[in-house]
Amino acid sequence: MLLSNGLWPYRPRMEPGESFSSWFSRLALSNGLTPRELFRIALPGAQMYRCDLDRAAPDVLLANLAERTGINMTSLEHSTFRRWHGSLIGGTVENAKHPWLPAASCYARTQSHGQQYCSECLAGDDIPFLRLEWRLAFTTTCREHKTLFRDRCPRCAASIVAAYASLGTRTMAECWKCGFDLRLTTSDKDNIRQIIPDEHEQRYMQTLKDGWGLLGRSGPRIHAFLFFSVLWQLFRMVAAGRFSRQLRIAVCEQNPELAAAIPAPAMKQVERHPPAARRLLLAVTDELLKEWPKQLVLAAEKAGITSGDILKDRRNQPFALVSAVEKHLSKPLRIYSVQESDAAISLLARNGILPTVKALRELTGRKIGRLENAAQPSSLRLAYGKHRYWKLDGISPSIRAKAKRAAIRDGENIGPWVEKAIIAILAQRSDSDIL
Ligand SMILES: [Zn+2]
Ligand SMILES: [Zn+2]
Repeated sequence: MLLSNGLWPYRPRMEPGESFSSWFSRLALSNGLTPRELFRIALPGAQMYRCDLDRAAPDVLLANLAERTGINMTSLEHSTFRRWHGSLIGGTVENAKHPWLPAASCYARTQSHGQQYCSECLAGDDIPFLRLEWRLAFTTTCREHKTLFRDRCPRCAASIVAAYASLGTRTMAECWKCGFDLRLTTSDKDNIRQIIPDEHEQRYMQTLKDGWGLLGRSGPRIHAFLFFSVLWQLFRMVAAGRFSRQLRIAVCEQNPELAAAIPAPAMKQVERHPPAARRLLLAVTDELLKEWPKQLVLAAEKAGITSGDILKDRRNQPFALVSAVEKHLSKPLRIYSVQESDAAISLLARNGILPTVKALRELTGRKIGRLENAAQPSSLRLAYGKHRYWKLDGISPSIRAKAKRAAIRDGENIGPWVEKAIIAILAQRSDSDIL
């Protein structure tokens, strides 16, 4: 099937912004092959089996395709996730989990809806193709058409996976499973107007493009990779986990427009939230970045989240987040309610322990924050004249300790012992006007 110049006869050009899997599938179909068959030809001996081509196209595959299609290697690499190595993806481990780039696949009964689409963009294409940027989970909206992306076939709910095309597939706008023409998807335009602007999503795209971004509007300028790591950590807290609901409520008190985010289910695989829910949760997350880290601190305080809750796994957390939380939350965020602090103090009282800072810390197992105000100063515990060793009050701790040991050795209580000691000193004096 090769031409004399070593090229394949049909070589669709790569459309601007097209994803590798979309182009690869069009290349296969135009040559009368399924993507799976082409994969075996382009990479002899290999099976495509479940492989997410945008994420993990092997070097050899790209090199062979470059040779057979005349498209240069750099363009091919640029159509895969490699485009974002260093800005969104840290390191080069192909198998590492990439936050913000969930898989697009369907295996057994597990579907992963990592490929979004805009039906209006597809409808406007001469040759419909899928965009690589549609795979970014921090975007949910087509900037051109102002519509909410879809991430599944509206008829059969299958995820969108270009490489699953079969020989009957005519365009990339067709559902691989049921054949539905995705261009006929009704748009969510009216819906979306009711929900929140997406200015922040555009800012994220700009951050990805520039390779750096600001935390908040004017916050510290940081590397894009760190920015997206921070965003990911915050998004995870908002989207799932035990604080997600309180955190959403706290943010919505500041910005009631986002109230629709409160009932969104907490989903452990947070990147799998469908676009509408993800959009809302991202908007909530973005509120936390404002005036960095002021809003985060405020919301965390309201939600009863401690700095320890945020910094559970420091080694894998971006420095920008760790340092901000450590610096601004050196005091714990957890607030004890009046009832809680009353309960703690009365518990100590019942056990005959004075509610000092130390005692309260030991009781609650953590820094006690505002509870500290409720604590009694520990000097009360050693109130002058009110305890066993009162005669040693005001004497330095090391001397007191020595005096106690000496009294014990002499078999005396401390009171008489001190008195004797004083008498002994006085007895050595000769100034008669004192004696
Ligand atoms: Zn569009
Ligand atoms: Zn379908």
